[in-house]
Parts: sequence; C-alpha cells; structure tokens
Amino acid sequence: MKNRIKQLRQKNHLTLKEVSQKVGMANNTLSRYETGKREPKLETWQKLADYFNVSVTYLQGIDDEDYIEFACNECGHTFKVPRELETKVVSCPFCSCQETSYEV
Ligand SMILES: [Zn+2]
Repeated sequence: MKNRIKQLRQKNHLTLKEVSQKVGMANNTLSRYETGKREPKLETWQKLADYFNVSVTYLQGIDDEDYIEFACNECGHTFKVPRELETKVVSCPFCSCQETSYEV
C-alpha cells in the first residue's frame, strides 16, 4: 500500500529537507518513508500527520470508509480489506489460510 507522504509534500510545495527539518528527522530517512523502504513508527506517523494536518490513516494511504477490518480465525491477525472485496475474501495475507481471508 502506498502512503501519501510524497503526494502531500508536493501538493504543499515542500522539499524533503523542509519537511524533515520540521518533523525532526534526516531527509534521507523521510525519503525512505516516502518510497516505502522504511516504515515510520506510529509516533513518526503522528508527527507527519500533524504537520500535514491530516489523519494518520489518510497519510498511510488508507481511507477508513473504504476499508473494513478482518480478523483471521487461524492466526489472529487483523488486516484491512477494501470494502468492495468484502465478498471475495480468499486468503489471509499473514498465514494464507483459506477461511477468513482475502486476496487483492
Ligand atoms: Zn491468518
């Protein structure tokens, strides 16, 4: 899933350097977050979300109203499924069980 950090940064005409200085991280770290090579900690997501004045889930690329949460009966993991795939659930992304799960 693609996050919206880069999209929001460009929309606000900000450079990597400007945003990373504001939220207190190295700009190559921010760059890795944008490309998905590194996953920010929740605390960092929150800082970035506050900075862009959006919700954490929006920044992460999730539109809450478009997703529903599934809990796998086999492994207990919860995961988000696009609402339109609710009826096509095939396999859990964590354990690949066939019961509760889905496939994108
Ligand atoms: Zn599972």
